[in-house]
Amino acid sequence: MKKILIALLALILTGTNTYSQKIKLIIDAGHGGKDFGAKNKAGEKESDLCLLMAEALQKYAQENGMETIMTRTKKEQTLTHEQRSGFKTDKNIKYYYVSLHMDKDKTASTRGNKLYYYSRAVSSGISKTLAERIAKGLERVNGNKSQIEDKEAVILKRNSVPSVMVYYGHVTNPQDVKLAKDPAYQREVCMLIIRSIMETRY
Ligand SMILES: [Zn+2]
Repeated sequence: MKKILIALLALILTGTNTYSQKIKLIIDAGHGGKDFGAKNKAGEKESDLCLLMAEALQKYAQENGMETIMTRTKKEQTLTHEQRSGFKTDKNIKYYYVSLHMDKDKTASTRGNKLYYYSRAVSSGISKTLAERIAKGLERVNGNKSQIEDKEAVILKRNSVPSVMVYYGHVTNPQDVKLAKDPAYQREVCMLIIRSIMETRY
């Protein structure tokens, strides 16, 4: 009986440590303002599409008990790398950083997802695992191949918290753009990012 109680207590305690810790998700809508990123023939900007996904991610993350920080909340906002990354952190909170982007290609039919992490960043191991989980999830959600790359991007380099850049399709591909604007698809992408974070605890 005593042994069972101790085991139960241990389970409750480790459970508290591992799973009840507050998560803060920093959501970075790529580009913005004077820097609109990539643009397609219809004039749609990567920066505007990413803001839509960022707003959805904020909503679903909060619904799933996470706190959120948005680096950008307006279309016309131009941010520096410093305003986008390297946030002060609280040691009692687990932070994650997701920067949202769409890729571009000369050929409109090109599709596919891309995930960036930086192998020399402070939290590179967790970032890589997170990138791998999101990559797999995106393949399931949109049926396109995902690539993972080790990239020395300024924001990834400046961040100490687990950080990934997520390219969920191409702004130059009409199907990807249609999906990117669809609330049901946005929900699927956001939920897979949230699940991937939940599975990648540190
Ligand atoms: Zn971009």
